[in-house]
Amino acid sequence: MTYVASEDRYEGMIYNRCGRSGLKLPAISLGLWHNFGGIDSFENARSMVTRSFDLGITHFDLANNYGPPAGSAEETFGQVLAKDLKAYRDEMIISSKAGYYMWPGPYGDWGSRKYLVSSLDQSLKRMGLDYVDIFYSHRMDPDTPLEETMMALDHIVRSGKALYVGISNYTPEKTKEAAEILRRLGTPLLIHQPSYSMLNRWVEQGLLDVLDEQGAGSIAFTPLGQGLLTNKYLNGVPNDSRAASASQFLHESNITPEVLRKIRALNQMAAARGQSLAQFALAWVLRGGRVTSALIGASKVSQIEDNVGALSNLEFSKEELDRIESILKK
Ligand code: NDP
Repeated sequence: MTYVASEDRYEGMIYNRCGRSGLKLPAISLGLWHNFGGIDSFENARSMVTRSFDLGITHFDLANNYGPPAGSAEETFGQVLAKDLKAYRDEMIISSKAGYYMWPGPYGDWGSRKYLVSSLDQSLKRMGLDYVDIFYSHRMDPDTPLEETMMALDHIVRSGKALYVGISNYTPEKTKEAAEILRRLGTPLLIHQPSYSMLNRWVEQGLLDVLDEQGAGSIAFTPLGQGLLTNKYLNGVPNDSRAASASQFLHESNITPEVLRKIRALNQMAAARGQSLAQFALAWVLRGGRVTSALIGASKVSQIEDNVGALSNLEFSKEELDRIESILKK
């Protein structure tokens, strides 16, 4: 069946300006790290992408290595684009990254110009695109001069293969350096992609301040702690969950009694506000407007629908924020 995007797709979403750039991103973006690989159901992946677009999610985040197998999430996304979303390319912000292991030998990992440029060429082929909207250095390479990695990003924009550039997982100090180099080169740093959730607050120790100073935006990955900050694990580990799957990134052992105590208390607060725990956790990441977008993952369309519902209540009272602090400290 031919997909036609919903006419009211822009009515419920909030779009936030990304730093001091001209680009706006949806408050909730969809990442294709898990559940979009060659091992996953194509039809489910396709429904999640098209339903997201119908809900006003204009931004889809990928990386060279998403799968498994590595590269296959970009292929899946390329097929959905070709089948359903070709007509809407100019309404979409598509990102990819390079920085983690992708192919053998000295040129398939980290941050050299050789790796970043050839990896992006491969990503474009897999997705069937002429350009991505945002291209990221996925992690800082301690052995490659930062100038080289930033010059590669600048070159990528000048060669028309990306419109904007970002960095991910860089420390506040390296972020500042990277932003200053990029500014000198004439390609400003658009965005940083760090992990951030109620269970992981490192960005509050300097990174968000650096981004404000530099005029760059931020997109918070794993805002739901890979599913821990949802109602999913409140009563055990469901068979269809990431913790029960072969994913090497979330294990049953991560669901400790301490985490469970916190999420049960947070869940009660969420219920009192009429929100699901997922909605509550996303609203918290977006509170006060310091983060441009919360970058969610999903395994089902219903999760995306639930998550977008967070936008109907993003306000927290001082009492609520204090109570959250005390729950998280315990
Ligand atoms: P989340 O913290 O949003 O976790 C997503 C998982 O939570 C889903 O797969 C699902 O788990 C569960 N979930 C989501 N919504 C709900 C809901 N409403 N109710 C119940 N369960 C829910 O993020 P991810 O860890 O998936 O990461 C998001 C994106 O961030 C990635 O796709 C990627 O784009 C980016 N990322 C970037 C990294 C980087 O280094 N730059 C590193 C990691 C991620 P289940 O599968 O169990 O149903």
